[in-house]
Amino acid sequence: MRLSPTHAAVRRVWTVELSPQPGGPVLACSRCPRRPYPVAAGSARTAALAHLARHVREDAVPEHVRTCECQARGCPWHPRHRGCSGSVLLVLARDRGGRRWRLADACAACAAATDQAAVVPATLLTAPPACCSRSRMSRAPGPGERARVREMLTYLAAALPRFSSAAARLLALQCALRADCGGRVRLPGGLLRGMRLAGYAAPWHELVHAGWLRCSFSGVQGAHGGVAAQLLDVGVLAQSPARGDRAQAAHWALHPAPLGATREAPPALQLTALVLATHTAGQSGSAEADLLTRLCGLSLAQVEDLLDRLLHATVLAGWHRAAEAGELRWQLPGNGLETE
Ligand SMILES: [Zn+2]
Ligand SMILES: [Zn+2]
Ligand SMILES: [Zn+2]
Repeated sequence: MRLSPTHAAVRRVWTVELSPQPGGPVLACSRCPRRPYPVAAGSARTAALAHLARHVREDAVPEHVRTCECQARGCPWHPRHRGCSGSVLLVLARDRGGRRWRLADACAACAAATDQAAVVPATLLTAPPACCSRSRMSRAPGPGERARVREMLTYLAAALPRFSSAAARLLALQCALRADCGGRVRLPGGLLRGMRLAGYAAPWHELVHAGWLRCSFSGVQGAHGGVAAQLLDVGVLAQSPARGDRAQAAHWALHPAPLGATREAPPALQLTALVLATHTAGQSGSAEADLLTRLCGLSLAQVEDLLDRLLHATVLAGWHRAAEAGELRWQLPGNGLETE
């Protein structure tokens, strides 16, 4: 297949800005001829992401012509680092207090160095909605769950408000992984009881106020204590992996082996253990401190506190901060024998 010559100059940066106006927020896009248009106050963030997602789908290009847009501009989006490396990713970043959102192709090194940025899994935005077709060939069950949960946590770290509680993040993760192609999801009472969130309205209200979903929770839950919701985040609606695969990932996230021994723990501890589990291979793991704090929605001091608690609960055998690498590293108990 011959490439069109315009591919060489393809620009894969899209920016939208929300500005408060007396009549409600207005969305302006740097790439659209369309004039700024009003969006509903409660779902302004979702409207912004939806707009960006549409551009990515419309402007799809072959993988090999994608380059680091950050480097192309002289790396203005982050402090200096050792240079571009890694694969080209779709990176969502926000600034101006969450009013401006930028989606761009950037290399893994630039993505990691950019503040307030998250990698958007290609499966979330670039694929057309897979609808609930049963594509059983998608992949074999196995270590994919951990990767899928890590992708979704990364996406949610950018899509949800920064101050979202751990309970809301855990709930959003379950909703995103269990939703059908129309964004409908129903969490049964047994599941919510297992998450120790049964009868607990606050995290639902958080997600409603963030414009991330609409739900039936009214304090009095439906039959058997389940809650039905409609997701409003189009980034999540367009997931291409088959629903069965996502459901397996959702299940793994409830018992994230090998760090699954925290069912009775408060949500912040559960979320931290889950984030660690997605960055653990064998008996040890590591992740950049910045990344961990972003994924957990907590300060570094809070994360370190929770690592201590996991240590006391013997979920971890040890942890330390590798200051030079900017990383947190941990080890699991045991003699190195896999128990999976
Ligand atoms: Zn636009
Ligand atoms: Zn850069
Ligand atoms: Zn780069």
